Amino acid sequence: MQIPGHIDPVTTGTVPLRGGNRIDLVGLTRDGIRAALEEAGLDTKAAKLRSKQIWHWMYHRGVTDFDAMTDIAKTMRPWLTDRFIVGRPTVVTAQVSTDGTRKWLLAAADGQEYEMVFIPDADRGTLCVSSQVGCTLNCRFCHTGTMRLVRNLSAGEIVGQVLLARDALGEWPKGTMASTADVDDEDDDAGHYTADGRMLTNIVMMGMGEPLYNFEEVKGALKIVMDGDGLALSKRRITLSTSGVVPMMARAGEEIGVNLAVSLHAVNKEIRDEIVPLNRKYGIEELLAACAAYPGANNARRITFEYVMLKDKNDSDDDARELVRLIKQYKLPAKVNLIPFNPWPGAIYECSSPERVRAFSNIIFKNGISAPIRTPRGRDIMAACGQLKSAATKPSRAELDRIAEEKQVALG
Ligand code: SAH
Ligand code: SF4
Repeated sequence: MQIPGHIDPVTTGTVPLRGGNRIDLVGLTRDGIRAALEEAGLDTKAAKLRSKQIWHWMYHRGVTDFDAMTDIAKTMRPWLTDRFIVGRPTVVTAQVSTDGTRKWLLAAADGQEYEMVFIPDADRGTLCVSSQVGCTLNCRFCHTGTMRLVRNLSAGEIVGQVLLARDALGEWPKGTMASTADVDDEDDDAGHYTADGRMLTNIVMMGMGEPLYNFEEVKGALKIVMDGDGLALSKRRITLSTSGVVPMMARAGEEIGVNLAVSLHAVNKEIRDEIVPLNRKYGIEELLAACAAYPGANNARRITFEYVMLKDKNDSDDDARELVRLIKQYKLPAKVNLIPFNPWPGAIYECSSPERVRAFSNIIFKNGISAPIRTPRGRDIMAACGQLKSAATKPSRAELDRIAEEKQVALG
């Protein structure tokens, strides 16, 4: 899809097929699977039935082997195996932090690498999913923004992260093949996910990349994740974070309908232009107006404003007061997440002191807006917010400066 503006991600063409000439069914819509089966020679009725069965095995049971799909005729299973696969990303490395956070470096079929992070908490487990290899946006405090290679991840590569996490956490249901089709999924916040004690309860599109620069694939992946006869995660348990791609925000609300997080990070043009260069294209006022218009936002479903705490940059009492003023001016049902800056090699910023972060938070709280301070997770394995970057594409310092310059020029 053509995204407005001239700073669209550089894509490297189509993703090569995994499994030779066989088609990977992960990431296709239900209709896409049916069409692929028809194309391979099944008649319409058979393709419809088989696609429904395969979908259920893939997304409800986590099965990757057609031979294990026991309600499909025995003679048909080798036919499927010859033509299709149910793929997974390749795990390059898997790390576990001292705080229990896990990070996986994954490789796509073309060798491109991207990361996903799982953050366990007492009452939930959050999977932080990547939408791109690298990011074109080059926020000054973010490690991912320094990556040279950028391509969009496909819907299959995005949903593949969720499937792989459930493999790794051993969370596919065992036993009989009960259908979840009768479970009322979308608005069921309590969810059958936690009820049976599963770890993976929430998804945040906060890994590598800008999800709204890869709208169609992110949408396709999240539709699969929310499908009632499969992973069946409620839209209330999914959050999409954007650095402020204003023209795509309304569509995200209407067509995907998940919770919105916005990486605000500064309250005036000068500072936001510097640290989130996309601000030169879509300014703070435009961004906040788009937030006010976000479909589905209300007091029960607030928009989260992410605010990274950078020492002497965006962390004064005046900044906090201005943030409150802006939220009130635009009548936003909002909460603020204060993220202590997570350092990475070569970063030019420092984290605000704990006292400064606390004072900033207090000002916002006193004005009736929730402003919790996020505890950094997985810093020891470089899994915290903004630390993701696959080592394989690490450029030199000189190269970094050149890339930053190129990106500045592109932004105009
Ligand atoms: N591209 C999207 C989503 C990925 S980033 C976005 O920017 O919103 C997820 C969050 O981590 C964003 O709020 C981002 O600004 C923040 N972040 C990036 N680098 C960080 C760092 N070094 N320390 C703390 N937070 C960071
Ligand atoms: Fe990209 Fe988000 Fe990092 Fe900015 S903060 S460079 S938009 S991943």
